[in-house]
Amino acid sequence: MVSKKRLYLIEDDPDIRKLVRSLLEGYGYDVQTFANGGAARQAIRREVPDLCIVDLGLPDMDGLTLVRELWEDVRFGVIILTGRGDVSDRVLGLELGADDYIVKPFEPRELVARVNSVIRRRDQLAEARGTAQSGQARFGDWVFDLGNLILTATDGRQESLTAAEAGLLIALLKAPKRVLSREQLQGDDQDRDDFAFDRSIDVRISRIRKKIEPDPKSPRLIKTVYGAGYLFTAEVGWG
Ligand code: CA
Repeated sequence: MVSKKRLYLIEDDPDIRKLVRSLLEGYGYDVQTFANGGAARQAIRREVPDLCIVDLGLPDMDGLTLVRELWEDVRFGVIILTGRGDVSDRVLGLELGADDYIVKPFEPRELVARVNSVIRRRDQLAEARGTAQSGQARFGDWVFDLGNLILTATDGRQESLTAAEAGLLIALLKAPKRVLSREQLQGDDQDRDDFAFDRSIDVRISRIRKKIEPDPKSPRLIKTVYGAGYLFTAEVGWG
């Protein structure tokens, strides 16, 4: 039997709480809702969800503050829910490590599709970790530990990746010296084809570059191939 995925929704608008809850319960998710960040934080300490959907405008704290806390924890996904039309908030959310974002008002179908896709991506990542011959990939000056998503450089410096970043890096590491389109990097998320989505891949690539490239402004490990996608240039050793 497959256990239900546990979702936490942190949203102060009771109508949206009700809507999202009944919608996602209809798709077999176990949904718990919280009207503020403090209550959600306590619940997360008691029991870790598979995914948190976080409204950016919360009464007791800035949703971004909560996201910043949450992304430190790679055990669950984060989707930002925002009523703000402000793109910079959304991009900032992705830069903080959120897996995706949804702008209010949203189509119920769109919400379900994005939740499904984050959950699926995380399952694939867990599977990739499980089936990797061993838990480490070596490239350039780095060793990437798939077990804890930590990169360690030869000089001892360490960087941790979010689950979304790790999924992307693993896709690149599995196909070195081949140009991968954004669609290929995204796996089977074919239901997404919009500009915002491409942007979220680009944001994640730029976050990974900041961690692994000596000069992120002129990257050598992950090259952009204009009009085509991305290319991972280094040899990769697994073991
Ligand atoms: Ca709100």
